[in-house]
Amino acid sequence: MLKRPAFYIDMEACTGCKTCMIACIDKNDLPDGVLFRRVTEYAGGNWSRNANGSYEQNVFAYYLSISCNHCENPICVRSCPTTAMHKDENGIVTVDHDKCVGCRYCEWGCPYSAPQFNAEKGKMEKCDFCRDYLEQGKPPACVAACPTRALKFGEYEELAAKYGADNVVAPLPDPSITGPNLIVSPNRNARPEGSRSGKIQNPEEV
Ligand code: SF4
Ligand code: SF4
Repeated sequence: MLKRPAFYIDMEACTGCKTCMIACIDKNDLPDGVLFRRVTEYAGGNWSRNANGSYEQNVFAYYLSISCNHCENPICVRSCPTTAMHKDENGIVTVDHDKCVGCRYCEWGCPYSAPQFNAEKGKMEKCDFCRDYLEQGKPPACVAACPTRALKFGEYEELAAKYGADNVVAPLPDPSITGPNLIVSPNRNARPEGSRSGKIQNPEEV
């Protein structure tokens, strides 16, 4: 098992196909409206008038496939009044259903909205990094499903050494809040975290 599991996203390679999201739904048998991995569509741009009266545009769009980041400083864990939400010995942030009372404080605390309320069970659920697959030496379902290999996973330090430690991209929150184990190679059009130049295009989905 990994000591500090992390996800890596190559934003240039991501086509926004959402196969990762579907693979996650399938693996975890999720009901309607519960998504452990979501693909945010972020886009913006304007028309501007040139001196000669012509117009040009600077439209941009890109995708971010995000699940729980199994953060180093998980606010979800601190928000949980029953200690149901915890980080286990393998660095995976997990919900203990015997302790979860479905209060949803973890969901409100998490800036990535990663914990999801399962109304059928009255419990919170979330990405567990496909712990059972990892134990069998297999990759998480989302990583295995991505047709463009935009998603990878591994030991945080190894991914950071290979790809850098960037994860400051709009519309993600400031990474200093939770210390996400997430590494992003930004799309060429990526706006910095905090930028207001674009808008989430699929808010009903993410
Ligand atoms: S992404 Fe959210 S739910 Fe996951 S560990 Fe970080 S704070 Fe907790
Ligand atoms: S499967 Fe791969 S390419 Fe498709 S949305 Fe997910 S990360 Fe992007």
